[in-house]
Amino acid sequence: MFPMYSSTRVVFPDRCSEATARILDVRRLPPSAPAPSDTDGPSGVPAGAWWVIADLTPFHPVDHTWPDQPGDSGHLEVGGVRLPVADCLTAARSVDGGPVHVGRDIPVRRGGEGHHWYAAHVLDAELDDGEARDLIGERAELRVDVPRRQALSAAHSACHLVGLGLNAALRDLWRKPVAVDGLGRPDFDGMAIASSRLTESGSTDVHRLGSSLRRRGFVATDLGERLADVQAEVSATVSGWLAADAPIAVGTNGDRLEDRRTWECTLPEGTHRTWCGGTHPERTGDVEVTAVALALAEDAKTLTVTTRTSVRGGKPWQ
Ligand SMILES: [Zn+2]
Repeated sequence: MFPMYSSTRVVFPDRCSEATARILDVRRLPPSAPAPSDTDGPSGVPAGAWWVIADLTPFHPVDHTWPDQPGDSGHLEVGGVRLPVADCLTAARSVDGGPVHVGRDIPVRRGGEGHHWYAAHVLDAELDDGEARDLIGERAELRVDVPRRQALSAAHSACHLVGLGLNAALRDLWRKPVAVDGLGRPDFDGMAIASSRLTESGSTDVHRLGSSLRRRGFVATDLGERLADVQAEVSATVSGWLAADAPIAVGTNGDRLEDRRTWECTLPEGTHRTWCGGTHPERTGDVEVTAVALALAEDAKTLTVTTRTSVRGGKPWQ
């Protein structure tokens, strides 16, 4: 029987990469379940792997509703024994009891009321049942793989900046007033984004240019011909923002996993704020963007933006 714990407290929004915590439970993923994560974590998630819940964590878990940023990897250290963490997933359980759901098996959306929310640290380690039981109640050092975290954070902030750059480059294609971003441009990225996937080397973002966007007044009949110009403009805008070394803040209204968080960047043209559950560097100057590529689908119904990123100078920022 899985005891009832309150939600995991998280310190990754403060850019922490290590913390001391108490292990609350150790369980196995079901052997037959489909991989519950959409991530491209370093070793994937083996079916039947052990996973650990702690009262507090510096690990960022992949979000089951919007799996843009993969879960952190790293290790736990308990009594001098090092247990590698291959991935970190989201888990949830109704406050009324019942089973604990992990990853894509969670039946409610992120942060849904009436649930406790947990970071599930998936171990890349073989344990027998006794060893797993003995871990419960122990204090553990939780350490995130910092270079990978930094690379994912750089890719994530770059992805938001490219979205803002796209809003600026496409601002003349709107024929009706619509919601604007923090810089006053029609929020194409916010309205059209269909999926976003981050890796250590960048992001792939797919925007839907369907009838709903047309109804809102977006006219993109000549986007195909203008694509090279738009791409060059986005690249130049984003380069300027990186050179401005603008501050990036992660706002939060609490330290529970389900509490809402924001990405906030104070650019020369204004401050943009958006809901975001990921991790980020302190400044745009910590990010390097080596390429932004736009591709329009043949049926012109989707626009895919591929961004290549790295951590500027590889310098540590935490
Ligand atoms: Zn984000």
